[in-house]
This record gives sequence, C-alpha cells and structure tokens, in this order.
Amino acid sequence: MTPLPAALYRGRFAPSPSGPLHFGSLVAAVGSYLDARCQDGEWLLRMEDVDTPRNAPGAADDILRTLESFGFEWDGPVLWQSQRQDAYAAALDTLRAGGMAYACACSRREIADSATQPAVDGGLAYSGVCRNGLPPGRAARAWRLRVGDEEIVFVDRLQGRQTQRLEQDVGDFVLRRADGLFAYQLAVVVDDAFQGVTDIVRGADLLASTPRQIWLQRCLGYPQPRYAHLPVAVNAAGEKLSKQTRAPALDTRRAAAELVRALRFLGQTPPDQLSASLPAEVWRWARQHWDFAAAPRQRLIDPGA
Ligand code: GLU
Repeated sequence: MTPLPAALYRGRFAPSPSGPLHFGSLVAAVGSYLDARCQDGEWLLRMEDVDTPRNAPGAADDILRTLESFGFEWDGPVLWQSQRQDAYAAALDTLRAGGMAYACACSRREIADSATQPAVDGGLAYSGVCRNGLPPGRAARAWRLRVGDEEIVFVDRLQGRQTQRLEQDVGDFVLRRADGLFAYQLAVVVDDAFQGVTDIVRGADLLASTPRQIWLQRCLGYPQPRYAHLPVAVNAAGEKLSKQTRAPALDTRRAAAELVRALRFLGQTPPDQLSASLPAEVWRWARQHWDFAAAPRQRLIDPGA
C-alpha cells in the first residue's frame, strides 16, 4: 500500500472495536468530522483492532453500521490495523537499526518493583533496567523506545500549551508487547503518518499519550499533526464512558437526537426540533453552524449533570 498524497486538512476517527459505539465515542466522531468538513477537509476512518484480545466479536461491523446510520461519510476505504503488521514491523526495525529501540526482559512484577514513580497514565514509569542491554541470561520479552529527557511541548488547539518530560513522566515505553502485539502508540503514529493525517481531534483521555506520539514521530522522521483534545464524557461517578463502565450502546433509531446531544456536549446550540428530525437535517444545521471555538475546554464532563 502506498501512502495517501498530502492534503491541506485530513482528519480521522479511529475507534477500537472493543465494543459498540457509545455516546463518548460519538462525541469524538462528531467533533473530528465537523472540524474536517467545515475546513473542506477529508475525514478518514481507521479501525484500531491491533489489540486483538480486546476486540469484541462483531463490534467492528457494528461500529461501521452505526456510523453509517448516523450519516457519517468517510473518504476512501477503512484502514484496518490488523492488516498493518508489516508496516509496524518495518517501523520497529528502523528504530532498532537507529539504536532507538531496545529489547526488554522485565516482567510486570519487576517493573513494579523497580519503578521509582507513577507514570502519567496511572501505570508506572519504566526505570530503564534493560536500557543498556539485557541482564545476563535473560530473554527479550518486549521492545521499548528510548525517550529523551528534554521537555516535549505542543500547543493543543483546545487545551492550550502542554508539556511533558517523557523520561520522568513515562519512561522508555513499549512498542511491541511481550505477547508479540504491537502497541497502540506505535500503530497510531505509523498509521497517522501513512494516511497523511494533518489534524487529530479526539478525546482528552489521550492527551497524556500525545507527547509519546510526538516523540515517536520525531524518531521516525514523520511530520507532526495538529492536535485538539475534546472533553470526554463521564458518568455520574466521574468514570469515562466505556465498555468497562457499561456505557450503553448508541441507539440508531435515535440517531438525530443523539447527534443533537453530542453537539450540545461540544458547546453548540442546535434547535430542539432537530432531535425529532433525520441525521441529514442535523448535519445540514451542524455544517452551517459549527463553531470549534465554542467547544468546552474541560477534560471531563458528565453530560447528565
Ligand atoms: N483507538 C483509540 C480509542 O478508541 C483512539 C485513538 C486515537 O484517536 O488516537 O480510544
């Protein structure tokens, strides 16, 4: 497969088929779609089924059907991460050849025991035990990317200036897991570059991953896309809507009403009667009135509150 030619604006929606679409994923889809379409941009769809044990049977097809019945129109064919193993392997080879990736023998237990501080995403920052070579007699389990100690700085279109020091906040992170699967961080960066994505609009739950992705882009010589991290829908307990928190699947019979709800969540002001119309009507209104600047800057919002 050859990469897509450059575009002025190319956005994407990249659901993981670990379950059906819920309101939280709809918000990211609506935000990225309108941001793209209102700038005459393209909008691609990528199925992030790289973490095969987490794929729910039938979920990918269900997601595609749901997006269709909500009136989303994507450009070109869907890119399936499960078919991109060669590309991820080639990127890992490049990083290995450049001395940027190294084999790691540490088990979860050893990482927990040697970690000196928690990582940004709730895990533990890797202390770098295998950084200078595997300990004698130990076999490689995972592959990690060496990080630098400089501050990674980027300006998010919604969340403003963000900084992270990867060495202390994350540590050298995993590119290929002990179970042989390529990690989300590698797959997402390789695919965004391959697809020529210029603009990433997604949930703020991924804000803390962005410096890792920027670092990887730099290591691989890829361009850096613009970023906008939208608020994430949480339930009354403050938990992100997800399969784990039993977020209800979107009801395609209520597509227009759910789209209106997602627009309101994103700070837009669609008229009430649109809820009882058809998705095409909602999109017509939304494309005329979309105001990115009205999107709230909070990272977590309970839509029921
Ligand atoms: N697949 C990820 C998710 O569903 C999104 C990845 C991204 O947008 O970069 O949470």
